[in-house]
Amino acid sequence: MNLENVLHTIRSVEKGCGLSQHSVQLLAVSKKQSIKKIHQAYDLGQRAFGENYLQEAIEKIHYLKQLDIEWHFIGRIQSNKTKLIAENFSWVQTVCDEKVARRLSDQRLVELGPLNVCIQVNVDGDPDKAGVSLEELPKLCDVVSQFKHLRLRGLMTIPQLTDDEAQTKATFEKLKQVYDELQPTYGFDTLSMGMSGDLELAIAAGSTMVRVGAGVFGPRG
Ligand SMILES: *Cc1c(COP(=O)(O)O)cnc(C)c1O
Repeated sequence: MNLENVLHTIRSVEKGCGLSQHSVQLLAVSKKQSIKKIHQAYDLGQRAFGENYLQEAIEKIHYLKQLDIEWHFIGRIQSNKTKLIAENFSWVQTVCDEKVARRLSDQRLVELGPLNVCIQVNVDGDPDKAGVSLEELPKLCDVVSQFKHLRLRGLMTIPQLTDDEAQTKATFEKLKQVYDELQPTYGFDTLSMGMSGDLELAIAAGSTMVRVGAGVFGPRG
């Protein structure tokens, strides 16, 4: 369990960038990690956890339902699975199209309050990745922001896998620029970017939420 090391890294990168403490939130990505490890991180104070695989996630959510966990869905969304997502998560960071957004809104139980969503943006135009293109993004923000049971919180991206740090940095900086342009219209407060391998670059570029799996929990089982 390296939660405290990761938090320490985040706090020192914040400091190095002249950001105030706790301006960057940690999402602990617990996919393929045991319930025991999630519980350990919880006991150390972690509250936000991210899951990619719905069946696995639902089991964990039910098992840990007595804990005060904020669950984020960060995997690919099959449109026939939106009901389970809408009913079990507080956040969905991987909204990529209008159809899925409409279903999530329609299927959200009113008593749970609005579902927090981020739109996933495919900044690099990577054919292997999900996400809306930069061109389509403003239109999708407009649509999603009007769904009654969704609350559009911001943008999320996964950069193309590369050894070229300059490319990753450019991707993060591009999304930050677009985020800043759209922020006044939609009241965004969340720019979700950065994982175990690139969280320093992401924070320096303006991320407000890093999603760290292996860095927190160790290699996935
Ligand atoms: C798995 C995953 C992460 C965490 O990746 P690590 O390299 O383990 O930190 C972050 N975001 C998304 C969308 C993921 O699927």
